[in-house]
Formats: sequence, structure tokens, C-alpha cells
Amino acid sequence: MEVLPESLQRLRGQVAIVTGASRGIGRAIALDLAAEGANVAVNYASSNTAADQVVAEIIAAGGDAIALSADVSKVDQVDALTTSVMEKWSRIDILVNNAGITRDTLLLRMKLEDWQAVIDLNLTGVFLCTKAASKIMLKQRSGRIINIASVAGQMGNPGQANYSAAKAGTIGFTKTIAKELASRGITVNAVAPGFITTDMTKDIKSDDILKYIPLGRYGLPEEVAGMVKFLAADAAAAYITGQVFNVDGGMVMA
Ligand code: NAP
Repeated sequence: MEVLPESLQRLRGQVAIVTGASRGIGRAIALDLAAEGANVAVNYASSNTAADQVVAEIIAAGGDAIALSADVSKVDQVDALTTSVMEKWSRIDILVNNAGITRDTLLLRMKLEDWQAVIDLNLTGVFLCTKAASKIMLKQRSGRIINIASVAGQMGNPGQANYSAAKAGTIGFTKTIAKELASRGITVNAVAPGFITTDMTKDIKSDDILKYIPLGRYGLPEEVAGMVKFLAADAAAAYITGQVFNVDGGMVMA
């Protein structure tokens, strides 16, 4: 990565939390926000080496970042995460709710634990982090919250009842919180990726999937990060809230 010269940085002095930033899409988002001059909290659950590498890459390029371990489905750990960020940088300008897991299986085989684990992280985690960060943003009277949803939450996907319910919930949550926080200068938007090449999808690639992607290829984490960066950093995005942006090669056309 390359941190932009100071005069070109659009997020200079701003503080971003990216959940699940040790790998995949979250990692690409953390690097992109840091390139724009943001100080980035790189959250992760267990991959401390990978998270440390993301931080090292940002610092080597002249940016600033810290790795913070927290299971964002747990309220005490989310509170500790935001406290650590406030102790280090005293503000929170951007929250990217990116951490997510899958536990795919058809409904009749889906155990309650499979349902609960995915809802706990992919939906309750978004609620907990948004609640904690928005307390700070409300005082600042500014902030940008970006939730990573999925096309599965818009069109459904066999084998992903838990995941698609959580992602559809994230979209409804995004619209409600956008309305609740709008008067305080905080925008809340969702990004809905299609099929992106990461650890999450490495075992489920097939030519069948490509048939449903008009652009005929899987997406890259950097392509999702580009949309997040637009919503976090672009001046024009100040007037955008409560929206869902698909980065999916054309899979969903509303
Ligand atoms: P990934 O490569 O599997 O990475 C998941 C990230 O989430 C890792 O950094 C992981 O940390 C973190 N994480 C897992 N459990 C956590 C927890 N309890 N608390 C905090 N962090 C946790 O996934 P990805 O493909 O980049 O997906 C990122 C987001 O995009 C997810 O919300 C996913 O649902 C969404 N999405 C992905 C695709 C796709 O095609 N890949 C499509 C649509 C939407 P550790 O490294 O410590 O485990």
C-alpha cells in the first residue's frame, strides 16, 4: 500500500474502526482508509499475526494503526474496543461493520448453534458496534457508518438461511439508524458485495456461480474497499444516507 501525500489525504486526522480487518475485505478496507490518512483500528477475533501484519504495512507506509482483538458479538468486548480507540485517538469518525462468518447448510440440517452464531456476529455485532461508536459520533455531531451486507440479504441463497437473515437484518438496521442519526450529521449506509475472492468463499467457487454474475468474474476485496472509501471519504457522500450499494458484478439489479 501507499499512503497518499498529506495534501491529498481526505481522511487526515480521522479515526476509523474496521471490524474483521485481519483478512479479506476488512483488510483491504483498513489499508484503503489508512492510505487516505485515517488512523485505523484493525479489529480481529483470533488472527493476531495477520492483524499485526496489516498494522505493520500501514505503519511502514507512513500511516498509523493499531490491532485490537475483540469478539464483536460480545458487548463487553465491543465496549473495551471503543474504549481502547478513544484512549489512543480520542475520537471515532468512521465505523465499518465488516466482521462476518458463514455456517452454511440447508434449513433442516441447520442447528440452532449455526443459526445463533451467525446472527450473533453478523447482526448483533453490527448493533453493538454501531451503538458504542454512535455514542461518540453523536457528541462529535459527525460520523460515517458503513455496514457490509451481502446480496444474500437481498435475493436469498439456499444454504444460507442464517446468513441471509442476518444480512437482510443489517439492511433494515442501516435504514433505521440512518433515519435516527441523520439530524446529527452521521450517515449510515450499507455495501452489498456479491461473490468476492476471500477465505470465506475459497471453498465454494464453481462455474455455476459465474453464470449468475453478468460481469463474468468474482470480485476483489479492493473493489468492495473502493466503495467503502467513497462512502467514508468523498465529499459527495455527505449527502448519501440509508442506501445500499451493490458491488456484485451485476448480480442484483434493482
Ligand atoms: P473473511 O475473509 O472470512 O474474514 C472475516 C474477518 O472477520 C476476519 O478478519 C475475522 O477475524 C473477522 N471475524 C470473525 N469472527 C469475528 C468476531 N467474532 N469478532 C471480530 N471479528 C471477527 O471474510 P470476508 O469474505 O472478508 O467477509 C467480510 C465481510 O463481507 C463479512 O461481513 C461477509 O459476510 C461480507 N461478505 C463477503 C462476501 C464474499 O464473497 N467474500 C460477499 C458478501 C458479503 P480473524 O482473522 O481473527 O478470524
